[in-house]
Order: sequence, then C-alpha cells, then structure tokens
Amino acid sequence: METRKALITGASRGIGEAIAKRLAQEGWALHLTGRDQAKLETVRAACEALGAEVSTFPADLSNENEVIELFRQAGPVELLVNNAGIGIFGEIVGFSLEEFRKIQSTNVEGSFLCLREAMKSMMESGGGRIINISSVVGVKGYPNQAAYGASKHALLGLTKTAIEEGRAHNIRVHAICPGGVATEMVKQSRPDLTDFSAMIQPEDVAEAVAYLCRLPENITVDCIHLRRAASAQCW
Ligand code: NAP
Repeated sequence: METRKALITGASRGIGEAIAKRLAQEGWALHLTGRDQAKLETVRAACEALGAEVSTFPADLSNENEVIELFRQAGPVELLVNNAGIGIFGEIVGFSLEEFRKIQSTNVEGSFLCLREAMKSMMESGGGRIINISSVVGVKGYPNQAAYGASKHALLGLTKTAIEEGRAHNIRVHAICPGGVATEMVKQSRPDLTDFSAMIQPEDVAEAVAYLCRLPENITVDCIHLRRAASAQCW
C-alpha cells in the first residue's frame, strides 16, 4: 500500500514540529517546510528516527512563487496542515501598518496560497484533508492582539469557504483553534507569564490533528476549540 503523504507548514519548531513527530509515528510520509533550513533538518532527523520517510523544502510562505514550488516539489499530498504563523503584539494605537501587513502576509496570504495549491492538487488526485491552525484569538478579542486576531479570524473565513468548495471534491477542511500553547510564540504574546507547564502543550494540538485524520468517511468536524479544561469557554 502506498504511504500517505502530509505537507506540514511551520514544521521547524513549536506546534508544527510536534505535529510532524506525531504524524511520523502514525506512519505518514512527510514533506516539511519552514524558513529555517537547519531547524527543518533537525526535525527531519527526529521524524526519520520515528520511521517516517521525510523530505524538506525551505520556503517563505509570503512569497507566491516559493509556495507554488513547495507544492510542486511535494507532488500529490493527502493532508495539508496549514500551521505556519507569526505574531506581533501591541496596542492598536501604536501599531504600524507595516507590522499589520507583515502578519497578514504570512498568516492570511501564506495560508491562502497553501490552501489554494493544496485544493488544486487534491481536486486532481481525488480528495484529501486540510487542517488550518487558527486560534482562540480567531474567535475572541484580546488586548494587544488586533493584527494577529484579524489574521486568525480571516483564516476561519478561508476555512468556512474551503469546507463548502471542497465538499464536492472529497476534500475535508477543518480548523483547530487552540488557546495559549507553550511555544516561543506564546512567550512573546504573554510576557507576563513565567510558568508554561499548565498551558496547552504542542503535543495536545498534534493529538487533535491525529484525531481529525482518524475521522470516519461519513462525518466531519468543522472546528475544534482546544482549550485548557480550567479556562473559560471561548465562544
Ligand atoms: P512558533 O513556535 O513561532 O512557530 C511558527 C512556525 O511558523 C515556525 O516553524 C516558523 O518557521 C513558521 N513560519 C513563520 N513565518 C513563516 C513564513 N513567512 N514562511 C514560512 N514559515 C513561517 O509558533 P507556534 O506556537 O508553533 O505556532 C504555530 C501556529 O499555531 C501558528 O499559526 C500560530 O498562530 C498558531 N497558534 C499558536 C498558539 C500559541 O499559543 N503558541 C495558539 C493558537 C494558535 P521558520 O521560522 O523556520 O520560518
């Protein structure tokens, strides 16, 4: 039987790295991307040690040509985990347009380009699955997170449309909206916190990805709101 291939963006660290390792354990072949080639190679080695066949392709997802080449190199993929993202945090009144656009170019335009290329490829190959990593900030407002929140709301908008357009082509599209996850990003967004042990762990998001990949053919899950059991409801 042919090994199923997954393309994971933002795989060089944090949540993407945990997803890569989890899918390696689940027997997927992996095509990993991020901008930092050295870190990608470290994740590749870890996934290969878990038995996975792995290829890497460094790309800046805000660059359309690089995204097109990323998917050309990957060939047909059965799963896209649209995970890459950046955060720049600060109050609206002090926020520059340049910073606002920088976030949208990776989180919205990059995610859109990956979604588009994956859907084109999956339509040709007969179907697939796309998992967009949004955030609780895609559902709820938080101080200092206007630009990031706008990008994560936009990703849910892309998800909702892709669910509708993908259905007839056997393409399942999902979003995962985690609360704060213990990675480099949360250290920037919550400089007030020093203890990250009680937070959602990257492996918890990877577990949600694995769950979505196990869904029976006859059902789907549009969105997983992943939060600490102790935190308030998010919608
Ligand atoms: P992270 O540790 O900062 O990792 C971000 C990843 O995105 C890195 O692998 C980075 O790789 C990649 N990336 C960033 N800009 C890129 C670009 N222009 N082109 C290609 N790759 C790019 O963050 P994380 O916490 O794992 O976040 C992963 C995703 O989860 C993000 O979409 C984030 O918004 C979302 N999320 C995070 C949290 C949280 O609390 N941490 C909560 C909810 C949702 P390179 O640096 O190698 O390019």
